[in-house]
Amino acid sequence: MTTPAETTPSAKRVAVVTGASRGIGKSIAMHLADPKGANRHVVLVSRSEGPLSDVRNAIEAIGGSASVKAVDVGDAKALALAIDAIAEQHGRLDILINNAGITKDGLALRMSDEDWDLVLDTNLKSAFVATRAAARHMMRGRFGRIVNISSTSGVVGNAGQANYAAAKAGMLGLTKTIARELGSKGITCNAIAPGFITTDMTDNLPANVKEQVTGMIAVKRLGTPEDIAACVAYVTSDQAGFLTGQTICVDGGMTMC
Ligand code: NDP
Repeated sequence: MTTPAETTPSAKRVAVVTGASRGIGKSIAMHLADPKGANRHVVLVSRSEGPLSDVRNAIEAIGGSASVKAVDVGDAKALALAIDAIAEQHGRLDILINNAGITKDGLALRMSDEDWDLVLDTNLKSAFVATRAAARHMMRGRFGRIVNISSTSGVVGNAGQANYAAAKAGMLGLTKTIARELGSKGITCNAIAPGFITTDMTDNLPANVKEQVTGMIAVKRLGTPEDIAACVAYVTSDQAGFLTGQTICVDGGMTMC
């Protein structure tokens, strides 16, 4: 392993995106790495290397720069070590997108402790652990952009998602606290709460449910991963230094929260 002293810091800002193998995380990674846009070096994180390598290849095909780190974000020790290794390898860490997430839906009265713990560990504890590790490196550069991908379920609740909504609401408290603790160090922390976005997570919902949801959305369409990525691109930009502690609902006007 290299030490920070031996590493020449990357000329580009370095971004870590968890859950980057598909869906919203993949789109965020593609946007951040786009040489015609943000032009970051993006480290792609999820559990399996194969799909991450496909995303890295797609980024390299458009002239961007990316690398791959396979880690289960539910394994707190492994995640913290991975963040440190990334920062040490590149000599810096500027941007962290806590996006990896899962659902294990069920009515609260029938929900098992295991399903509660799994969703809280994967969706919420991981964001805390990654933030704690990453912020130490960001403080050295006196610059940081942390974005927590929450959910409108965490803002307004959702029947059948006690574990998921609690985790996503927890992210909002984490966001505001980190914003207050680290604002003076040049580090911002914001949450983005997507509404209904078409990805693997939502693909298997029945057509009539999707139609019903569309009816509740002001712009009368479901969201795309690109809708979220475009917002992340601004929130993580150098120009967004006065935006912190916020929850931005990117939901087509579904909740107007
Ligand atoms: P997908 O199911 O399409 O992708 C989830 C991503 O998270 C994958 O890259 C997956 O990679 C990764 N992941 C899951 N568990 C772990 C783990 N334990 N360790 C590392 N990586 C993991 O989801 P979406 O793109 O739809 O969602 C992305 C985020 O946006 C989630 O946090 C979700 O809660 C949130 N969101 C999504 C909405 C939607 O409508 N789609 C609405 C509101 C919020 P792999 O399985 O390869 O490890």
